[in-house]
Amino acid sequence: MKIVFATNNAHKLQEVRQILGDGFHVVGLKEIGCTEDIPEDAETLEGNALAKARYVKEHYDLDCFADDTGLEVEALGGDPGVHTARYAELFGQHDADASLSHDSDANMNLLLHNLEKITNRNARFRTIIALLYQGEEYLFEGVCPGTILRERHGTEGFGYDPVFCPEGYDRCFAEMTAEEKNAISHRGRATQKLVEFLITAGNEE
Ligand code: IMP
Repeated sequence: MKIVFATNNAHKLQEVRQILGDGFHVVGLKEIGCTEDIPEDAETLEGNALAKARYVKEHYDLDCFADDTGLEVEALGGDPGVHTARYAELFGQHDADASLSHDSDANMNLLLHNLEKITNRNARFRTIIALLYQGEEYLFEGVCPGTILRERHGTEGFGYDPVFCPEGYDRCFAEMTAEEKNAISHRGRATQKLVEFLITAGNEE
């Protein structure tokens, strides 16, 4: 079964291919010739994930899934949420340098600054995967609760990993191996739900 994962992230593609196994032919955006920047300007994670999946269905007529992830901090009313990737660019004090977009260091600096005087460090990562499959739309959610540290730790991973400590662990994501993190992460959990759905659907065909 051929299905598109609306991403250019080779790491994410590899991860999903590994879990899905040989029954599924998962291809990325590059492989279907999609080089456009798919708009991600919805106000929710669900909206963004659905928009990406619908774009591929409309323009390439292929079954497709897409994901979007946000870091939701309790004391900040759920921010940065849907703006997680561009937190510093959109809300920080900076010199409008385009290279700051998606800049993890600037994002973490702003987050730590905004939480400086705050004792409630509760937060969660949330991933939504939207799937367009045989004419129907499905949403899968993966949540990883945890806390925001006061300073960076570790060298692994990406994004906010050095300041996010998952619940039940005394190490942050950046101090874990990829396998350890995938087993408990928001994306890992959402992907697992998608995979279970696709395997069941594949068996029923
Ligand atoms: P995306 O929707 O997967 O592109 O994620 C949006 C943003 O959330 C990324 O640019 C990262 O800053 C952050 N993010 C997503 N997943 C993780 C993670 O597993 N660890 C740390 N940061 C993450």
